[in-house]
Amino acid sequence: MRILFWAALVLLLTSCGDNDNNQAQGDNAASQQVYKWKLVTSWPKNYPGLGTAPENFAKKVEAMSNGRLKIKVFGAGQLVPALQVFDAVSQGTAQIGHSGAYYWTGKNKATAFFTSIPFGLNAQEMNAWLHYGGGLELWRELYAPFNLVPFAGGSTGVQMAGWFNREINSMADIKGLKMRIPGLGGDVITRAGGESVNIPGGELYTAMQTGVIDATEWVGPYNDLAFGFHQVAKYYYYPGWHEPGPTLEFTVNKPALESLPADLQAIIETAARAVNQDMLDEYTARNNTALEELVNVHGVEVRKLPDEVIQGLRKLSAEAISELTKDNEFAQRVAQSIAEFKRQATAYHGISEEAFYKARQQ
Ligand code: CA
Repeated sequence: MRILFWAALVLLLTSCGDNDNNQAQGDNAASQQVYKWKLVTSWPKNYPGLGTAPENFAKKVEAMSNGRLKIKVFGAGQLVPALQVFDAVSQGTAQIGHSGAYYWTGKNKATAFFTSIPFGLNAQEMNAWLHYGGGLELWRELYAPFNLVPFAGGSTGVQMAGWFNREINSMADIKGLKMRIPGLGGDVITRAGGESVNIPGGELYTAMQTGVIDATEWVGPYNDLAFGFHQVAKYYYYPGWHEPGPTLEFTVNKPALESLPADLQAIIETAARAVNQDMLDEYTARNNTALEELVNVHGVEVRKLPDEVIQGLRKLSAEAISELTKDNEFAQRVAQSIAEFKRQATAYHGISEEAFYKARQQ
């Protein structure tokens, strides 16, 4: 009996050892496999801020994974056109994309909410809503039928209202105004009697110079200075009511993500989160210095949109959003979630961030 017992125990221990070894060898193989991914973007290769973010992401992922996940970044048009990023990643032509959700309203109008809506959340609030207010869960639910997993991919912070060759003193001044302003903001300008057009960034300088358009929004001082809009426009208006916290996106092909070992999946998530914050930090710092240069070196006239105009645009924005959510149950859920979050954030930020900004200026 005793001999049998020891024989059985030895057998048991040995087989356990074999299982452990097999398991360890399996882990080892997965931990040594090198994955090569393609990342497609909607921006020119290395475009300041927007285009450098996915490059930073790829570098971080490669460093953190010790070279086990290599990501090659393609600018707009290099592998697929700027506005085919969503489809390319959905179909697995590329494993990952960097773009903006509001370009995909043709798939579902609700996508607009995950970039920015007029008079919506600022960058800090968007990040809070996405990561701690249920926003990311809604975003993932929206993208699931497309085989995509979205992650927040950076923010420029509150943008500027834009460059104008016409004074805006009342809502009447928007009538007949031809302005480059995409998305819901453009919808609002149209409702106000203006004409909204969408022209790619690279063509805006000439469009302003030749009078094809009277006004354009783009991003903020850092990117606007680079395009030289101060040479072709008289007034630089604020605030960017139409894009208060524009959030970009990383979209990852779901089967590709799930095929990665758990540590590489965690690296993707962590690198996206780091780049998301890093872009906001970069824009905040560079916008500060670019605004100084625009005003002090180039003599740009910075103007605030009159309160009456802000109120008029806010009313029309509410109409545009309600039109967008009409007949779209999912968009209604997202709109409600944002509205409730904004209500809370406005109450708290009224006595924290906003109160502090005012206190600091006194
Ligand atoms: Ca913009």
